[in-house]
Amino acid sequence: MNDSTIAIRRSSEDNTTKDHSAPIHLTSSFQFDNSEEMRALFAGEEAGNVYSRYSNPSVDEFLNKLVSLENGEAGWAMASGMAAIFSTFAALLEEGDHVVSSNALFGSTHKLLTTIFPKWGIKSDLLLPTEMNQLDAFIKTNTKIVFIETPSNPGLQLIDLKRVAKVCHEKGVLFVVDNCFATPILQKPLNFGADVIIHSATKYIDGQGRTLGGAIISAQEIIDKVEAFARHSGPAMSPFNAWVLAKSIETLDVRLERHCNNALELARWLEQQDEVEWVKYPFLPSHPQYDLAQRQMKKGGGVICFELKGGKPLGLQFMDRLSLFSITANLGDTRSIVTHPASSTHSKLSPEEREGMGISEGLIRISVGLESVKDLTDDIRQALRK
Ligand SMILES: *Cc1c(COP(=O)(O)O)cnc(C)c1O
Repeated sequence: MNDSTIAIRRSSEDNTTKDHSAPIHLTSSFQFDNSEEMRALFAGEEAGNVYSRYSNPSVDEFLNKLVSLENGEAGWAMASGMAAIFSTFAALLEEGDHVVSSNALFGSTHKLLTTIFPKWGIKSDLLLPTEMNQLDAFIKTNTKIVFIETPSNPGLQLIDLKRVAKVCHEKGVLFVVDNCFATPILQKPLNFGADVIIHSATKYIDGQGRTLGGAIISAQEIIDKVEAFARHSGPAMSPFNAWVLAKSIETLDVRLERHCNNALELARWLEQQDEVEWVKYPFLPSHPQYDLAQRQMKKGGGVICFELKGGKPLGLQFMDRLSLFSITANLGDTRSIVTHPASSTHSKLSPEEREGMGISEGLIRISVGLESVKDLTDDIRQALRK
């Protein structure tokens, strides 16, 4: 089936009351018919729901859809994207293990790898994009995971999934991809040879700026390890959030089509404005990795970055003169959002670190929403004039 059908029709099998729209199973535990059934479920001899820290039908509804869209075998839902990233490392790594990662990472992932996991004897090397091209030289005997994001936030640098997967498989290392920016609608990393997919469902999957959520998708053998960690450490997704997110997935395909079409139109328009120094968007032919974007993504995604002539001071004035765009840290919302990463989400990094991630001091990031592009360009034009 096609993605739009999978997203809508793939459901949890636990629907005894025949609801057409999946109900919310807001319960912390599940009843047993007798003591023998309870014993058998606890012993793992019978499958079934026991307690919502382990499993829940609303959470299954969300997870089944996402696992199918990613072409995965199994998955585990988490309270947030960061819970999914933390749990992946915690479940799959031991003291003394080593991680190789691209350096263009979500801020909290950067912090996990550089300040939290080193406390437990797990070290990481964060590579520049040029170093990613010689990945095999950075893999040591104790390297267990290669972790990447593509496209990166907010620099929109791409990484060749096929090439990295090949190196990882030759070296016997797990290849983990944070697929938050693309979603399975635009890019399915398992099809290119990745081993584990991580999602922050908070962004495009919710798509309406309401709930946090996350997920890990992989082979059953890997998810068994994640489960062994997550059952006892408690990063479970709330059934209410799972219900919201499962409904959101049903419209992911149509929403992303509009996000991407709006973003491409806006990016092309920005390129023509005299006040604009440069624009970066994966599906603009001027993007240095345009060919790779065409090979591994269906469309260019909903995020654009650009810089005005006049750099940071003019960029900040411009942001404050926009009236339709929200200034907020989220992305992937119905509402268009503008941010200045160097003074907000990426302010804890040094200017050199930012430069390595493709974040110049004047870079402005736009998460293009679902409004009419004409209204967005009108607003940008009046802000540029002012
Ligand atoms: C937002 C984000 C995360 C973290 O997700 P939360 O749901 O906020 O915990 C991880 N990776 C990427 C690329 C993100 O954009």
